[in-house]
Amino acid sequence: MQFDQNYDDDDAKALEGEGKGRRFSDFDCPDCNANNPHDGFGDGDEIRCYYCGMEFKVTVSDEGRLKLREA
Ligand SMILES: [Zn+2]
Repeated sequence: MQFDQNYDDDDAKALEGEGKGRRFSDFDCPDCNANNPHDGFGDGDEIRCYYCGMEFKVTVSDEGRLKLREA
């Protein structure tokens, strides 16, 4: 997966780095607790646990906290 470093979105600029624009390189599955390495995900992405197969919708809060919801 490639990250677009040059996207032009004025609203996103204030949030880059920590915060809602934060990217994550792994997550703990809320369903089975397995740690899943990942090549990079962030707010609005959908991720899948390699162990149990559950899919989750990613939400990142304004404070940069990761939240996963069952997709
Ligand atoms: Zn899982």
